[in-house]
Amino acid sequence: MASLTITQASCADDYDPNSMPVDKARAFIHQFLDPVTATVRVPIRTALGRVLAEDVISPVDVPSHRNSAMDGWAMRFADLEPGAETTLQEIGASFAGKPFAGPVGPGQCVRIMTGGVVPEGADTVVMQERAIAAGRAITFSGGNKQGQNVREAGEDLEAGSIALRRGRMVRPAELGLIASLGIGEVAVYRRLRVAFFSTGDELKAVGTTLGAGEIYDSNRYTLHGMLTRLGCEVLDMGVVRDDPRALEAAFREAAAAADVVITSGGVSVGEADFVKGMMEKLGEVVFWKIAMKPGRPLAYGKIGPAHFFGLPGNPVSVMVTFYQFAREALLRLMGADPVEPVPTFTAKCTAKLKKMPGRTEFQRGILTRADDGSLAVRPTGEQGSGILKSMSDANCFIILGDRVGNVEPGASVEVQLLEGVV
Ligand code: AMP
Ligand code: MG
Repeated sequence: MASLTITQASCADDYDPNSMPVDKARAFIHQFLDPVTATVRVPIRTALGRVLAEDVISPVDVPSHRNSAMDGWAMRFADLEPGAETTLQEIGASFAGKPFAGPVGPGQCVRIMTGGVVPEGADTVVMQERAIAAGRAITFSGGNKQGQNVREAGEDLEAGSIALRRGRMVRPAELGLIASLGIGEVAVYRRLRVAFFSTGDELKAVGTTLGAGEIYDSNRYTLHGMLTRLGCEVLDMGVVRDDPRALEAAFREAAAAADVVITSGGVSVGEADFVKGMMEKLGEVVFWKIAMKPGRPLAYGKIGPAHFFGLPGNPVSVMVTFYQFAREALLRLMGADPVEPVPTFTAKCTAKLKKMPGRTEFQRGILTRADDGSLAVRPTGEQGSGILKSMSDANCFIILGDRVGNVEPGASVEVQLLEGVV
């Protein structure tokens, strides 16, 4: 990582805080992400959802022995007639976990099941669908290849080779793979601590009664959910009033306790000025108007060693900016490497979409399979940035890039799935 400061980077010629393209904001943030380094050794089940801090080296060959990929018979390839049937004598059986003791000689074969050790002398397996058994005399069809249906020891992974690289997020497949090597513990990075709070005088906690003009604080719940699913250690700091002293104290406390501070609200025009003033004292923070909808205002910076994401207040904007900026950044900070962007693909849009060129829109969509098997997507309905139901009803974002204008029914649009994103 360069020793570039946020202030230096934000003085670049093409840097415009009032119209920041989504990609540029992402790339800007990327320059400052320094992953956690502390590691901890954990039993493999505990590693689920965490990031490997060391390569996992296979202590064994996988598979550990030459074995059959099919149910059938094992024999010497040299004994099979190239273009005609061959009858061989069955001398025993090799089942998974119960190998045949002894070699297979000329004119002989051994009954073998999937996973069974291929006996010494044998080099080929003929699957049972290509054989006819009459007692111990087994007749095989012609047209075989040497080595067919035989999995060599170490074919998947050789002893001493890297099974999984440092930086890999452990999912159920990795748990199984690590277990298959006989390894019971792995080194993972310590969990990323993320402190978050909501800002706003109008916000009330769930379980209290609303007064005039008040609303329930929902952002702390969506953030709790997204951060938890991402695998972060969460520190919920509640609601902080729009009061400079209370905010300053909250920022200081959060930055001292966590690797990352995430807030919602307080970065829109008007409110930003007052947070801006405070940030000049506390750290180095840039305030952007991103060329996107929803989620226009966004702040990013450092408060001491802690990274700061100032997300907008609108409930949908919080989720969209989290998915589009915070997710990738947090994964990098967690030590994940490489971090792939969430893939996008195209689908046919079945409705008309209103869209202004010059900004990226993340409309909430419902992706389905049409009768002809193709993918079809439609918007969830009202797309206001306060309508959380549009996120709840959606299973994808319809991403309409900067240059895209109105979309007519039947046009192809870019789609990004929400499920499994965090
Ligand atoms: P702000 O960015 O603070 O101007 O907030 C924008 C809009 O989002 C306002 O209508 C706020 O009332 C609403 N809002 C802000 N924070 C929250 C929250 N934690 N939960 C629900 N709505 C919020
Ligand atoms: Mg506010």
